[in-house]
Amino acid sequence: MDIQIADAPPGIQGQGFFATSLDKAVGLARANSLWPLPFATSCCGIEFMATMASNYDMARFGSERLSFSPRQADLLMVMGTIAKKMGPVVRQVYLQMAEPRWVIAVGACASSGGIFDTYSVLQGIDKVIPVDVYVPGCPPRPEQIIDGITKIQELVKNEPLRRRNSPEYQALMASYGIK
Ligand code: SF4
Repeated sequence: MDIQIADAPPGIQGQGFFATSLDKAVGLARANSLWPLPFATSCCGIEFMATMASNYDMARFGSERLSFSPRQADLLMVMGTIAKKMGPVVRQVYLQMAEPRWVIAVGACASSGGIFDTYSVLQGIDKVIPVDVYVPGCPPRPEQIIDGITKIQELVKNEPLRRRNSPEYQALMASYGIK
């Protein structure tokens, strides 16, 4: 089996040197060492277990180190039905994560409430926190979850270091009542 190393970012290469921008070097490191916090409440969490197991092996993407402490995580993965009562808990976990942080809504329930169009279910976690990538499916297969991770990696790789200080990002946070 071929083992591939992460692609080098765009830059200038010569004999004995490689030069790129700080943004690209930091993006490369961040994208290939994401520490996910799995917030799993129901069946989509089972698919995530399969994604972590040897057949799919998320370690290949540098994400084998799961964190159950928000302070040591930079990727919140919400998987499963989120009842309205759980909404504030998801939000609190998000708030306890340090910037930069990213969010994946895994599956129909986390993305939109799924089949549970009821009074008690949050109709998507983007009602309480901003979401970077939505993974469709009920449940999504592990390949789809991995596709979501690679989409996040693309975002992370290409995110300018100053994005989090930009007026657009501040406005996005303000729309969720987050300073
Ligand atoms: S999207 Fe489907 S599989 Fe995932 S938690 Fe909801 S009902 Fe379960």
